[in-house]
Amino acid sequence: MSINASTPTVPAPETKLPKVGTTIFTVMSQLAADHDAVNLGQGFPDFDPPERLVEALARAMRDGRNQYAPMSGIPSLREAIAEKTERCYGYRPDVDAEITVTSGGSEAILDAIHAVVRPGEEVIVLDPCYDCYEPAIEMAGGVPVHVPLDPHTFAPDWDLIRAAVTPRTRMLMINSPHNPSGAMLNADDIAQLCALLRDSEIYLLSDEVYEHIVFDGARHESVLRYPELRERAFVISSFGKTYHCTGWKVGYCVAPPALSAEFRKVHQYNTFCTFAPAQFAFAEMIRDEPEHYLQLGAFYQPMRDRFREQLLTTRFKPLPVPGGYFQLVDYSAVSDLDDAEFCRWLAIEHGVAAIPLSPFYGTPPAGQRLVRLCFAKSEATRDAAIKRLEKL
Ligand code: GLN
Repeated sequence: MSINASTPTVPAPETKLPKVGTTIFTVMSQLAADHDAVNLGQGFPDFDPPERLVEALARAMRDGRNQYAPMSGIPSLREAIAEKTERCYGYRPDVDAEITVTSGGSEAILDAIHAVVRPGEEVIVLDPCYDCYEPAIEMAGGVPVHVPLDPHTFAPDWDLIRAAVTPRTRMLMINSPHNPSGAMLNADDIAQLCALLRDSEIYLLSDEVYEHIVFDGARHESVLRYPELRERAFVISSFGKTYHCTGWKVGYCVAPPALSAEFRKVHQYNTFCTFAPAQFAFAEMIRDEPEHYLQLGAFYQPMRDRFREQLLTTRFKPLPVPGGYFQLVDYSAVSDLDDAEFCRWLAIEHGVAAIPLSPFYGTPPAGQRLVRLCFAKSEATRDAAIKRLEKL
């Protein structure tokens, strides 16, 4: 009897995550590949990581660094992270008790949520927010509470956030520099955040994966600068963004000892440890060439400036980009399609892949005509995209 002839005895599972489909980043990258579109969608640099880092990785593998790393990360990498954190934010996290290396920022986000959020507890997210937040909360049985950022500046409305707090609020998630908009929290936001959380037991998850990509001399207001905030915070970063190697999937979480202890319980049984050879490579790179992360804003700023200048020759209107490597553009002079439809049309008919904003919202604002373009690309890629956008 052929295997196909039997009727299945196990029914297809009732989905636990009804709202989840394929991520918009994958969908758009696929569409770009299928239609030979210039891919400014999914956020990744199309240039190589520093040669020294690639060499260090190859050497680590040749030197036999191929077995399990310690669960929390190799000591020399945690040491390098402590030093980098101190240099950037004036606070040196404890190497043994406060730093955990993870398989990317997304793993760290999932671990932090699972470490503290219980079924029925609420987690406040600020829309538009990165697409992995909501499913991570729901997998923990938590309830995402969506609060909109300002639709034009993407600044938090602290009164709205305050009004969303209930006795069941377990965590607040923030993200600066912000994906998709590039907006950054300023000192006044930090003061408001401190006031909001003071006297509460709410945890803070601060997604700072674009921490080193800041422009125009602005200061990244890391939560790690503020004792009052960091005592309740999971602060998450990603080497993929800092070292142009998003596919290596290495990130980390800095949190006080008691929070790190719970975080590590999840990490330990989720991935256990992170790709060991890359840990050796990053430890060396961070220690020996701090200029790389210190000058990352200066590295990206000419790309941002040139791209914005080029956009002025099109009918797309660029919004300000204080940080990160994404440029939001208003396309209302080009089309009246909604953003998802517009992105399909743009990729298929005009050969440029972008990311619509609606997937970043619990409830997308009606009539918003914005898409996200990634400018972490070689000059040739950006020029090719602009040439196509100019025709519209
Ligand atoms: N962080 C990337 C972005 O915002 C996407 C990563 C992914 O595809 N999972 O584009």
